[in-house]
Amino acid sequence: MILIVDDNQSNLYSLQKLLESKDFQVETAGSGEEALGKALKNDYALIILDVQMPDMDGFEVAETLADYSKTKDVPIIFLSAVNTDKKFITQGYASGGKDYVTKPVDPEILLLKVKTFYNLQEQNIAMKKTQQNLELEVKGRRESQVTMKSQIDHFHLMLESLPQIAFTLNEEGIVDFVNGKWYQYSDNEQDFPETHPDDHNISEELERCRKKGKALELEIRIKNIISGHYRYHLLRVTPVYDEHRIKNWVGTFTDIDDQKKVEKEKDEFLSIASHELKTPLTSIKAYVQLLERKLKLDKESPEAGFVTKVQTQIEKLNTLITDLLDVSKIENGKLKINKKPVNLENVISNAIETILQTHEQQVKIERHGTKPDILIPLDEIRIEQVLINFLTNAVKYSPHNNQVIVTTFVDHEAQEVRVNVTDFGIGIPDFKQDAVFKKFYRVEESSLQFQGMGIGLFICSEIIKQHHGSVGVSSIVDEGSTFYFTLPLN
Ligand code: ADP
Repeated sequence: MILIVDDNQSNLYSLQKLLESKDFQVETAGSGEEALGKALKNDYALIILDVQMPDMDGFEVAETLADYSKTKDVPIIFLSAVNTDKKFITQGYASGGKDYVTKPVDPEILLLKVKTFYNLQEQNIAMKKTQQNLELEVKGRRESQVTMKSQIDHFHLMLESLPQIAFTLNEEGIVDFVNGKWYQYSDNEQDFPETHPDDHNISEELERCRKKGKALELEIRIKNIISGHYRYHLLRVTPVYDEHRIKNWVGTFTDIDDQKKVEKEKDEFLSIASHELKTPLTSIKAYVQLLERKLKLDKESPEAGFVTKVQTQIEKLNTLITDLLDVSKIENGKLKINKKPVNLENVISNAIETILQTHEQQVKIERHGTKPDILIPLDEIRIEQVLINFLTNAVKYSPHNNQVIVTTFVDHEAQEVRVNVTDFGIGIPDFKQDAVFKKFYRVEESSLQFQGMGIGLFICSEIIKQHHGSVGVSSIVDEGSTFYFTLPLN
């Protein structure tokens, strides 16, 4: 908007019409005082100011406007009829004017000047706005930097108070913070603690996980620099995301050495106990068989029934001890797999037959899918053990439904065969499904109702792992479960 100031109404009117004809918005003031009042209230891009006015002349108005921050930068064009002297023109510029036009006004020249100043002022205002925005942004950034720094300090303080060794890595995987406990295992911030020669290399493992953007979890022995002894630690390194992008990584080493020792002692005890139990049990089994043969009991007699019951219990005990022995073999890396080409369908039929024969209650096992009537390299006894385990569980954990479905899929493209065992039993809660393959894990809700040691699925998963296959489960509580394993065709 433009303000025209002149005490002569006809001048005011003609100038106003001239500018409005070129689409400028115009306001007028008939005196210096009125002009000041308007200029302080409104925003003008330009003021056209007559010099000769009674009471307050144009120069005074310009000087006063220059004293106010709101108006000091508004450009002024002076109009003067008489003061064409150099002296007046100089005074005009000195009092804050941007141009000096003498009357009679040449409308075209005036319009050109007005346009130029108007545009210049518009650009000025736009630039000022941008500058203000920039200043605001810089201020905001500075504030958020301060907040971030205090958050980081707080976070470091928290890491310092942890009982574990804690550290952080930047985006590039370089250590940028360590807590005090770090220095019990490393003498400087850059170097990871020294690991046992038989264990993984931390930097290599970290680099692999960093490239995949995945968390790292590793049991590893690291050397205490004071005692010189290696202690088992659980190393966990987790990515920290900032809007889907990994910002940095937080890592901890938790000392699990005592726990590892206890675990080792327990494994040793289990191994010794199962070996020691196996020998007398084998003798008992042999003597009962001998007794049965010698006594030649009538099959219908109660005594023959007792002998059969003794044999069933011996078989149960034998399975338990064999499972425990398998666990200790797995622990010691001695679970041997003897692969040779075997028809998988035959193995499945045998396992189903065994289950049907050994279960007193009525069990219905349906067979679905493409039959893997092909030779696959596998350990027949071990794969049958996995199937029997899946089927036994399917029956055991379905007290109100005796139907089980075995489905097979042969995927030539993926070069694998998949075996599903589906039941309609009690099911397993979502968050416990992965854990059922862990050693000695039993689902708490059902552990009292059903007998077991929680090692069957652990052994199954180890057997399948050694065949380079995979195991898994999908399940819905009170609807049933599907346990599966896959085996590579070659
Ligand atoms: P066990 O049956 O001797 O406890 P397993 O290792 O075979 O040991 O199974 C581990 C746990 O997984 C079981 O205790 C049970 O809680 C759960 N589980 C296994 N199979 C099933 C199934 N078919 N339905 C529901 N829960 C199951």
